[in-house]
Amino acid sequence: MPRTALVLGGNRGIGLAVARHLAARGDRVAVSHRTGEPPEQLFGVHCDVTDADAVNAACTRVKEELGPVEVLVFNAGITRDRPLAAMSADDFTAPLQTNLVGAFHGIRPVLRGMMRAKWGRIVLMSSTVALSGAVGQTNYAASKAGLIGLARSLALEVAGHGITVNVVAPGYTDTDMVAAMPDAQRENLLSTVPMRRMATSDEIASAVGYLTGEDAGYVTGTVLRVDGGLGMGH
Ligand code: NDP
Repeated sequence: MPRTALVLGGNRGIGLAVARHLAARGDRVAVSHRTGEPPEQLFGVHCDVTDADAVNAACTRVKEELGPVEVLVFNAGITRDRPLAAMSADDFTAPLQTNLVGAFHGIRPVLRGMMRAKWGRIVLMSSTVALSGAVGQTNYAASKAGLIGLARSLALEVAGHGITVNVVAPGYTDTDMVAAMPDAQRENLLSTVPMRRMATSDEIASAVGYLTGEDAGYVTGTVLRVDGGLGMGH
């Protein structure tokens, strides 16, 4: 059954792959973009996820154009890597504001509609770093680990309303975020991945597709690692 889906942070990288995956299965898909233009053939809404009013307005537009949001994928994320000893307060809080508080801003406007409909799917994009930690990423790892606590608590709150809340934890994925790393650092990281390669965005999108589909109705509060074995055991 086609659903109305919103991907927050859906204009490039993993978010765009998720949006295209959901559109290919027939969903009515909206994506948010903070910069640039919305991707072709997808309904775009402009918002910065750190701005609660802007996210509210974006959700209202999606509801008016495509119907109430039934599938929410919170994908927006930033890094601000530095060793903690050299980290300013702003370096620490910026990823928390986007990656974690942004998820709260995204969920709040759509949750009551899902509760009324007695059906909903929420997926939050975390990272294996939330489970294992990473040098230079205390801020990012804290934000991504926070998403797991948020998802599990919310899963408990809304399970009786037919709403599932899950987390996808990608490993290194071939997007702008990883391209920004120096070559030597990237090679070094890849040598730690059992499958010795990065994920494609489409591989992450498939996991989101499963968790947001009809078949995953009994899967909630889970963390699905898609990381080539990197986070095994966590
Ligand atoms: P990209 O840097 O390619 O894309 C980031 C996305 O987040 C863009 O759509 C960007 O929008 C959006 N975004 C960032 N800040 C904001 C904001 N304040 N408001 C709204 N949108 C915002 O990242 P990836 O595709 O690689 O990553 C997607 C998600 O997956 C992120 O949450 C990331 O942490 C996570 N992840 C990525 C991994 C990787 O190896 N690539 C590994 C593990 C997790 P805009 O273009 O407008 O800035």
